[in-house]
Amino acid sequence: MTMLPDAKLYIDGVIRPASDNKTYDNINPWTAEPVGKVADATADDVNAAIAAARRAFDETEWSRQHNSRLALVKKYRDLLFANRDTLTQIARLEAGAAMGAANRAHIDGALNGMDDLINCFASVTWEEDRGLRNEYGFDSARIVVHEAIGVVAAITPWNVPLYVNIGKVIAALLAGCTVILKPAPDTPVMGTIMGELAAEAGFPPGVLNVITSSEPAMAGEMLVADPRVDLISFTGSTGVGKRIMEKGAETLKRVFLELGGKSVNIILEDTPDFAMTVMTGMAVFHAGQGCAMPTRLLVPRSRYEEACKALEMSYAGFSTKWGDFDDPTQIMGPVISKRQQERVMSYIELGQKEGARLIAGGKTRPDKGNGFFIEPTCFVDVTNDMRIAQEEIFGPVLVVIPFEDDEDAIRIANDSVYGLGGAVYSGDVARATNIARRIRAGALSVNGGMSITGDLPFGGVKGSGMGREWGLEGIEEFLESKVIATRVA
Ligand code: NAD
Repeated sequence: MTMLPDAKLYIDGVIRPASDNKTYDNINPWTAEPVGKVADATADDVNAAIAAARRAFDETEWSRQHNSRLALVKKYRDLLFANRDTLTQIARLEAGAAMGAANRAHIDGALNGMDDLINCFASVTWEEDRGLRNEYGFDSARIVVHEAIGVVAAITPWNVPLYVNIGKVIAALLAGCTVILKPAPDTPVMGTIMGELAAEAGFPPGVLNVITSSEPAMAGEMLVADPRVDLISFTGSTGVGKRIMEKGAETLKRVFLELGGKSVNIILEDTPDFAMTVMTGMAVFHAGQGCAMPTRLLVPRSRYEEACKALEMSYAGFSTKWGDFDDPTQIMGPVISKRQQERVMSYIELGQKEGARLIAGGKTRPDKGNGFFIEPTCFVDVTNDMRIAQEEIFGPVLVVIPFEDDEDAIRIANDSVYGLGGAVYSGDVARATNIARRIRAGALSVNGGMSITGDLPFGGVKGSGMGREWGLEGIEEFLESKVIATRVA
């Protein structure tokens, strides 16, 4: 199988190995074999990246030259688009994306989102005239300047790495911040290629830095603890997010957290093509490794048996349609790692112990290859208090919960520590929209509407985090307001 290029650090404008030359293996989830070598950053490397980003922010005009910055980001954008095939290959070989998933959320979603962010740049208000005000007997002319916050550390996960890297890095650069990107240990090349293309685009040294590390916490913890870093933009698990918030308090960091989810998909009894809609509710896209994926399917008690039968049919029909690296139509491959495979399997075991009924899947599939394959899995007869209904599994596992009426559906939807995405289907748009309004989450889809695109704010409430990425809000997240008041009389 094809190899990926070795992943190198990008620090202060230089692409280089780790200071002690150490590397680790980049593992291909399809085969469990190494697919390349990755520079394993030392503490000295992390320090050098922070120093470079600090210097580039404090000692250059980067944050103030909006137009030349935009021009460079556009050049960078062109290079990322020109490397679309390489990016697709990286998503397939290190994130384990099936071709159909790589093309959609992984690459096109990320690249189109980048264009959305660039388009949003024109709507950023950099300065506002707040007029004269007489206070204590004299006039002051006031302006409010919206300026870049400073040095941003972007800490990203492995599930849709390009999408998350772009959502943070492009928005922060457009805002005028300097950035240290720390990708997840499992998806390093999707980070380091962003460094290589930034070098090719001609970014000033230190404006973007990329550090890769085999150790999940080391570099991240250094970034969170360091007073030279002004803001942490983190996407990952809720547990690590809490730790970042706690550790970041010591240096009063601004912290933005995009965390886990356990989103609902509510299908009301009056939904036209009820069975068909239920069938599309399988949690199989990218093997269920999507933070906003609706993994709790809520169906009306009055049509529960019909819904279970429809799901049995759809999972049976899907059984031969996943796990093929070369099939361009497939949307599901392996999960990311052995560790993740074991974690998901432990939840499948737990679901059976909790009394849920398995109607599809439930096993690993060594026949698909040496990689980390888990069958598309569906539990019915789930109650919302079960751990499989409450905890994020992050694998191809759907749980199906019956509800009595609209109030009950809303109650179940909100009875979760999470609040990221969600979907409601009904023949009555007003009824579905009313339910969507009452669900505590960041992005709701009604009758299949697309609630996650690069021009819209994305983020969660409750255990799903705080702050918004993408859209104008995603750029403004990296700005701070400053008042300048001049005494005029
Ligand atoms: P993770 O929390 O284990 O790791 C995320 C990143 O944090 C990685 O780069 C990791 O190296 C780093 N990290 C780990 N420990 C750290 C520490 N102590 N201090 C600082 N950094 C640390 O998450 P993951 O397993 O890579 O990704 C899966 C999780 O991400 C899921 O929970 C998923 O829901 C979530 N996710 C959320 C969104 C969103 O936008 N809400 C998007 C994608 C993924």
